[in-house]
Amino acid sequence: MPYVDVILPLALDKLYTYSVTDDQAGILRPGMRIAVPFKRSKLYTALVHSLHEDAPQGYEARPIDQVLDQEPIVFEDHLAFWQWIASYYMCTLGDVMRTALPGAFMLESETVILPSVKEEANEAELTDNQFLILEALQNNSALKVGDIQRILERQRVLPVLQSMMEEGLIQMKEKIQERYRPKWVKYIRVLPDYQTDEGLATVLEQLSRAEKQKTLLMHYFKLAGKLNDWISSSELIKSSGISAAIRKSLLDKGIFEEKKVREDRLNTELHVEKISDISLNPQQSQALANTEDHLDSGKVVLLHGVTASGKTEIYVKLAQKALIKGEQVLYMVPEIALTAQLITRLQQHFGDAITVYHSRYSVHERVETWNNVLKESPKTKVILGTRSSLFLPFRKLGLIIVDEEHDPSYKQFDPAPRYHGRDAAVVLAKSLGSQIVLGSATPSVTSYNNHSTGKYGYAQIPDRYKEILMPEVHLVDLKEQHRKKIIQGHFSVPLLEAIGETLANKEQVILFQNRRGYSPIVECTSCGHIPQCQNCDVSLTYHQYRGELRCHYCGYHETLEVGCAACGNQSLDTKGLGTEQVETELGTLLPDARVMRMDYDTTRGKHSYSKIITAFEKRDIDILVGTQMVTKGLDFRHVNLVGIMNADTLLNFPDYRAHERGYQLLMQVAGRAGRTKKQGQVIIQTYQPVHPVLKQVLHGDYKAMFDRQMKEREQFRYPPAIRIIRIEFKHKEYQRVQEGSSWFARSLRQEFSSNVLGPESPLISRLRNQYIKQILIKIPLEVSMAQTKNSIKRIQRSFNAISQYRSIRVIYHADHI
Ligand code: ADP
Ligand code: ZN
Repeated sequence: MPYVDVILPLALDKLYTYSVTDDQAGILRPGMRIAVPFKRSKLYTALVHSLHEDAPQGYEARPIDQVLDQEPIVFEDHLAFWQWIASYYMCTLGDVMRTALPGAFMLESETVILPSVKEEANEAELTDNQFLILEALQNNSALKVGDIQRILERQRVLPVLQSMMEEGLIQMKEKIQERYRPKWVKYIRVLPDYQTDEGLATVLEQLSRAEKQKTLLMHYFKLAGKLNDWISSSELIKSSGISAAIRKSLLDKGIFEEKKVREDRLNTELHVEKISDISLNPQQSQALANTEDHLDSGKVVLLHGVTASGKTEIYVKLAQKALIKGEQVLYMVPEIALTAQLITRLQQHFGDAITVYHSRYSVHERVETWNNVLKESPKTKVILGTRSSLFLPFRKLGLIIVDEEHDPSYKQFDPAPRYHGRDAAVVLAKSLGSQIVLGSATPSVTSYNNHSTGKYGYAQIPDRYKEILMPEVHLVDLKEQHRKKIIQGHFSVPLLEAIGETLANKEQVILFQNRRGYSPIVECTSCGHIPQCQNCDVSLTYHQYRGELRCHYCGYHETLEVGCAACGNQSLDTKGLGTEQVETELGTLLPDARVMRMDYDTTRGKHSYSKIITAFEKRDIDILVGTQMVTKGLDFRHVNLVGIMNADTLLNFPDYRAHERGYQLLMQVAGRAGRTKKQGQVIIQTYQPVHPVLKQVLHGDYKAMFDRQMKEREQFRYPPAIRIIRIEFKHKEYQRVQEGSSWFARSLRQEFSSNVLGPESPLISRLRNQYIKQILIKIPLEVSMAQTKNSIKRIQRSFNAISQYRSIRVIYHADHI
């Protein structure tokens, strides 16, 4: 009798076996979806892992419910990649499945179905079943899959729902419901008929007595870049100064036509002008040649080029070559924010051959992209995306580019799989036979070490393109500014002067402060009470705009009371600096400057990133204040000054990576200054002007940072000199997590003796009412990771067998880098 082993999208330690009929066995292949009953009679979507003839041990195989795919949606070499992720990052295949596949691919009985946010469906084109479902959704705004089984009076409803989801007729409720409505932008043009000489003559004749309409028409021609060009309707109105009513008359007369385009699809719908090939300068050509040599010899390449040296241009050249060979290209960035700016730039080279993929896209859009990649649609020759795009079903992935490879955002923290996008990309490239380039101006110590030990190839671009000098960096001693009482708020004299000068020259400023909100601490001036989060072991951050105290970890918030909650004293003091306060102080110090803030609070919506970035690009903003979001890879042409409000919080962080990260962050944010014209300026305010990292930043001396770091890490045994597995324990009772983690550490010590550190409380020892303990295991390079992980898993099995420990959550960070 034939059987299938399946992956269920649940955290199960093993595959489950179901029986199939001979007919089913004939069509099923690994990577296809089937619906199966699990846990009583609930239905789940599972993925076929393998087919065989062996009955399972210990339970009787149940028959599957039905086959959902005709072709695999995941290929076998990708399943092997899933397997690698699961074993390397110590999680289950079900965890990987949930991260890898768009949610809409995994319908189950409990899935909640919602009406679509798209336009009305065309009733004439609906099947009976589709009609019934949409009708039911009109009366109930949400239905479970189980309800739909009753409505359709049949068991097998998943295929119907699946196809409706793919057509965008319905959507599923996701855990974090994205309350996102696409934004539409109106575009307008003169009908092509009237764009000929004759046509235009007729129309002008017709409008001979409508002066304003004529003017608006002529304005269109001024703005339109080429024949039949669509231009933004609101821009036409704004720049012509003529009222919208006039536009309407021209629309009514059929001289103008209008179309609505979804903002995030603008570029693909409107066809960005392609630009002719860029020719590389000698340094860039050399770097490209070196990169290609190493790639051809099968090596991973680290491309180390200072900020604005033209790394992106090199990626483009490499990608073009891959496309010529008919291969696909994956261009990875650490954060969604970066896709917004890169997309236009890449479209100038690749036109419509590029698709963006990341988690903020709707379920429907993610499914669409998945299917497009699957059928090798020309739109998906180049994929620009965040780490989750690694899981797309590429068939001929020729090249992976990991841009800003040093960025910690490549790591997924929660939920499992807790994987590192860069490292997983290296493994994927190996298993698919793709070439891979890791690029950065400030490589991670790990990757640079892989170059020094000869494991990775290396290519370098030492200077900025067009001989623009690297920005000049100045350190300002805050202690002295305070002593002399010349500091205004948090702005030193040199910083304020430099801002003034920059604005006078009609250039722009970026100010960086790594904390959001107004101030991270509020303190009673009388008793010293500091409001804390109810659920976490952290102080509440004051948000002035909302008049609230907020926890940045769990979202808890309360209104800021006038008096101290402990003693009733009326005067409260704020300590520490957040982006809101920087913005507020600027309002007082430079009331005429146009200031905008870019941090987590101002960028929640799907389009808010690109809105701020576009406004800054268009110079509607003079000063951009932000958290690390402003440091990342953004390419602005008119920024001449970057100010770092306070470097100390970055450097004094108790983590072995603090200095590496501090260096990277400061160099990256500095790199936003003076990218295209003249030398930029960077001002770093600090209480420790003699700090070694600041000296390295002052001289842009990456090598000094790397050498010092490697020395320290060898001495104190940190990666990459060794490897570390971090294990977190979480429980709502302190006593229990304390005892459980101690038990675990004792068992680990029997095997790994002094290489086990802890248990200890991490920096934040309670989060969302869960107490946390952690254990670090240091693993020498010559010791097998696989064996180590097996031992840990074995200890965990004994741990789980102890009843009072079973409820403790054990979380693995299998690479503490
Ligand atoms: P990086 O990715 O290293 O930060 P970019 O590729 O963004 O650098 O280059 C910085 C700026 O210089 C960009 O505006 C880019 O278009 C321009 N540039 C770089 N190299 C060239 C080149 N060879 N020809 C024309 N412009 C270039
Ligand atoms: Zn909290």
